[in-house]
Amino acid sequence: YRRMLGMLRDEPAISTDGVRVHMLANVELPDDSADAAEVGAEGVGLYRTEFLYMNRDEMPGEEEQLAAYRRVLRSVDGPVTIRTLDLGADKTIGRNTGKTSSNPALGLRAIRLCLKETDLFRTQLRALLRASAEGDLRIMLPMVSNIQEMRQTRHLIDELKTELRREGLDFDSQLQVGAMIEVPAAALAAPLLAQYCDFFSLGTNDLIQYTLAMDRIDDEINYLYDPLHPAVLQLIRMTIGAGNAAGISVSMCGEMASDKRYTALLLGLGLTEFSMHPASVLEVKRAIMNADVDALKTRTREILAFTDAQAYREALETLSQQLV
Ligand code: PEP
Ligand code: MG
Repeated sequence: YRRMLGMLRDEPAISTDGVRVHMLANVELPDDSADAAEVGAEGVGLYRTEFLYMNRDEMPGEEEQLAAYRRVLRSVDGPVTIRTLDLGADKTIGRNTGKTSSNPALGLRAIRLCLKETDLFRTQLRALLRASAEGDLRIMLPMVSNIQEMRQTRHLIDELKTELRREGLDFDSQLQVGAMIEVPAAALAAPLLAQYCDFFSLGTNDLIQYTLAMDRIDDEINYLYDPLHPAVLQLIRMTIGAGNAAGISVSMCGEMASDKRYTALLLGLGLTEFSMHPASVLEVKRAIMNADVDALKTRTREILAFTDAQAYREALETLSQQLV
């Protein structure tokens, strides 16, 4: 079975009816980039930068970050989407980072924290800009919930471009900046948010947490974690629709993309860019290569219009078995 999957490594993911799907890898630790290359990932859809900040007293400087970003660009072919620091709630760096919030998942985390601690953010953005001179690097912002966060970040990036130009340092002037869609507000406002984004990436781990008001790290309520909840599927559908209408790409980098039980449904919702842990890439690719996307779209549209809750659930369960 593993050998058979291995044979898929260099094949493009094309469905039986000719839809080309892009298979990207998530990189959480530096070694994952080598694994991504090994399974033939067409790029990195999510590079989590938290590891650079973990278990140390000093924050990583511009040169250290630049070296790490250059390394991933060199080790993987295709675009590399790097997420700016996503700290807070479930993501800690092993030391106290200030005041404890009464509600960390809803508090000063991710892009909110970066826009407050602008020195920290500037250092990372400068490193990202400089690395962009050497490959197809894209910047992705975590936990965006409004347009202002996009505008502020873009403004900061413009300032830093001027600064780098003055210093004679290279960067890609066309560098793409996009948002993770992982807060319901971002999905609901996606048509407007798209005006400030070069791409969207669905972060279903948080999108499910926030939509269903269930803490993703609380074991006592993990039974509430439900990617098939109609509210979750509507938000995914709206995000893909808004991205398509605005002509920007939409990928999914949450765990849902890596689970082949959801591949048929996601293709049916129109997803054409999947990003996941390297270990799942070949399996999901195989499922995609067995899929008839046009038929899945028709079926998915029908199911989402069901008004009978029982029938809705059963039809989704049946769909989830289709490509497994
Ligand atoms: C997500 O929220 O779906 C995601 C991809 O990011 P993380 O799991 O790092 O929060
Ligand atoms: Mg997230």
